[in-house]
Amino acid sequence: MIGFGQAGGKVLDKFLEYDKRSGSDIVRAAVAVNSAKADLMGLEHVPKENRVLIGQARVKGHGVGADNELGAEIAEEDIDEVQGAIDSIPVHEVDAFLVLAGLGGGTGSGGAPVLSKYLQRIYTEPVYGLGILPSQDEGGIYTLNAARSFQTFVREVDNLMVFDNDAWRKTGQSVESGYDEINEEIVKRFGILFGAGEIEPGGEVAESVVDSSEIINTLSGGGVSTVGYAAEEVENQSSSGLLSRLKGGGDEDDLDVANTTNRITSLVRKAALGRLTLPCEIDGTERALLVMSGPPKYLNRKGIERGRKWLEEQTGSMEVRGGDYPVSESGFVAGVILLSGVTDVPRIKQLQQVAIEAQDNIEEIKNESEENLYGLVEDDEDELEPLF
Ligand code: GDP
Repeated sequence: MIGFGQAGGKVLDKFLEYDKRSGSDIVRAAVAVNSAKADLMGLEHVPKENRVLIGQARVKGHGVGADNELGAEIAEEDIDEVQGAIDSIPVHEVDAFLVLAGLGGGTGSGGAPVLSKYLQRIYTEPVYGLGILPSQDEGGIYTLNAARSFQTFVREVDNLMVFDNDAWRKTGQSVESGYDEINEEIVKRFGILFGAGEIEPGGEVAESVVDSSEIINTLSGGGVSTVGYAAEEVENQSSSGLLSRLKGGGDEDDLDVANTTNRITSLVRKAALGRLTLPCEIDGTERALLVMSGPPKYLNRKGIERGRKWLEEQTGSMEVRGGDYPVSESGFVAGVILLSGVTDVPRIKQLQQVAIEAQDNIEEIKNESEENLYGLVEDDEDELEPLF
């Protein structure tokens, strides 16, 4: 997992924290890349030797501002530095690369597509992106950066998973505390998704465990992906399952099965029809993957199969996979849905529209200020001459 720029680094840090907290083993190795020294120093969980400062000759550790063209240039110039950090990773042990970045800024916005292109050339493992869109109130330049980076990033990765800050912004929240909560939401969703691929089949008592090849197959074919999530608290005392089994006859068992199945199908609906990481129309999705996670006794094949069928109908896709991710000690049953190859995304069209307007405005303002400066510096009758 490679976090590029400030947002990329912070989300990477959160993934590492999640791994430690939950005991999952999602991140085989972590590298953070930035042109701002202070941002790299602010990370907590990324090993110091895996923090790469690029562009020192150009920006002296101060970052590129919101200049993503400069971000792309320095990434290209200093790609060997990033390679140096990747060299310490046993790449043959990873299933894929994941490059994380906020697309509205400079370093990550420009650098993430450059790095992805490079990784695609050097390695055979798939290269995925996780791109974060700016919220609308960040203004024109961020929107323009994001629109241009999005176009480039999609082209350079095997799949771009998108998270839209705008859909997750809460009013009246400070930016910092807001980001922290948002980053938790990001990691929760992608943590379950990627964590599912780490379970050894046959380990926990699972009926049909999702393995990493199913995630890879869902993402293969390229394009843009979004993720849905829904969860419900459940009582998780192993005695309750035993008790009900001791007490009950066949009827009660049937009821349990029916409850479990219904819970799963309703979570699948909530996850697909609720707030997605990138809001979009799910009809027309090319491929999908449903992961149900929670204590094994709350997971059953029937529920997952029904949820999967329902997803097939809703998306019109013939390629909907499903499976479970048993987590014995969890107090929740959660459903995560990866919708891969979505194409009906009004938010992207709107982002592009605003970006084009911003681009036109910037051009206009530049021309105007050139004229104004000329008006100031030159005398009206052109009687004065510069020295040289
Ligand atoms: P960079 O360091 O130049 O790559 O730029 P940043 O990563 O600071 O900012 C790029 C964009 O990412 C911003 O416009 C925000 O939309 C977003 N962003 C910044 N920090 C965070 C964060 O911690 N979480 C999330 N979700 N988005 C962030």
